[in-house]
Amino acid sequence: MFKLIKQEGNARRGELTTVHGTIQTPVFMNVGTSAAIKGGISSVDLADQLKCQVELCNTYHLHVRPGDDIIYKMGGLHKFMNWHKPILTDSGGFQVFSLAKLRKIKEEGVYFNSHVDGKRIFMGPEESMRIQSHLASTIAMAFDECVENPAEHAYSKASCERTVRWLERCVAEQKRLNLLEDTINKDQMLFGINQGCTYDDLRIEHMKRIREIEYCSGFAIGGLAVGEPTEVMYHVIEQVEPFMPKDKPRYLMGVGTPSNIIEGVYRGVDFFDCVMPSRNARHATIFTWNGIMHAHNKRYELDDRPLDTECDCPTCRNFSRAYIRHLFKSNEQLAGRLAVQHNLYFYNTLMEKIREALDEGRYEEFRNTYSSRLASKLED
Ligand SMILES: [Zn+2]
Repeated sequence: MFKLIKQEGNARRGELTTVHGTIQTPVFMNVGTSAAIKGGISSVDLADQLKCQVELCNTYHLHVRPGDDIIYKMGGLHKFMNWHKPILTDSGGFQVFSLAKLRKIKEEGVYFNSHVDGKRIFMGPEESMRIQSHLASTIAMAFDECVENPAEHAYSKASCERTVRWLERCVAEQKRLNLLEDTINKDQMLFGINQGCTYDDLRIEHMKRIREIEYCSGFAIGGLAVGEPTEVMYHVIEQVEPFMPKDKPRYLMGVGTPSNIIEGVYRGVDFFDCVMPSRNARHATIFTWNGIMHAHNKRYELDDRPLDTECDCPTCRNFSRAYIRHLFKSNEQLAGRLAVQHNLYFYNTLMEKIREALDEGRYEEFRNTYSSRLASKLED
């Protein structure tokens, strides 16, 4: 299913074949938390204008509202939101640990209160797989515990061991669900998730354990980008990467800035996702090929250039900095939509350029040119 096309150092150019089409990697998945990209972007925009390959949706949010049973009755997520390319759903684990109140972790799973209405919910590996099967995503993520950083070594170790047992239960449940006659996507894939906080020994040991589970179609590195210094994140990737199977995709969850992505690819990662392009856009923070800009800055009051002079997105083809600044200043909803459109197009184009550089054997040069430039402040 995963074909490694080319490698330059640790950086990989590949493709993953799925029932919903082939994903060219490295890839950035566009985050549509509740089956919608925040900022008023529809699946039609994503497909026709923004070069999106994979949409990511959140299991926890969709389970709470509208309910995965409703999405199942509507024919699954693809039909529900009219998106026909691959979808990855997270396991719900991260939200259970970051959003839900009064959670209690047991061997069987997690008891918690919904952040919407306080309703008592139980989620364990089997429940997570059943919800994701209802949603009928292309790739389901294993249910894991996302331990807070910093955590004690002993606690992290026990959590890692439980996460292995939970992964085995996820595998058994997905196998069972994929065989049921009423299952919408009988070819749903499962990615396992590496944990272990910032402890090298736990990260490596855990990766060695889960890579033995052949059923997994890919592996993610979880529990990073949760406030630890960037150097620590890169260090963990470098520790874990040598133990990740070469013939399966690797996914760095929740990462990150354009520079983080370039550095992640450099260290052997294939899949990324982050709310940053859409969230930052809604707060007028714009990523450009010459650095980061703040669209509400007074210096753009009379600037008739597009947000990014090198960009071909629908926003940059049609509107000026002066107009977009005005929209932000007047709290017009259109400001968010135009800015999100640009930032997502920028991220998806960044991945396209990364793939081109890998295809042409000049990734090292690409990284040297862009890694720090994209993190700098736009000067002009
Ligand atoms: Zn643009």
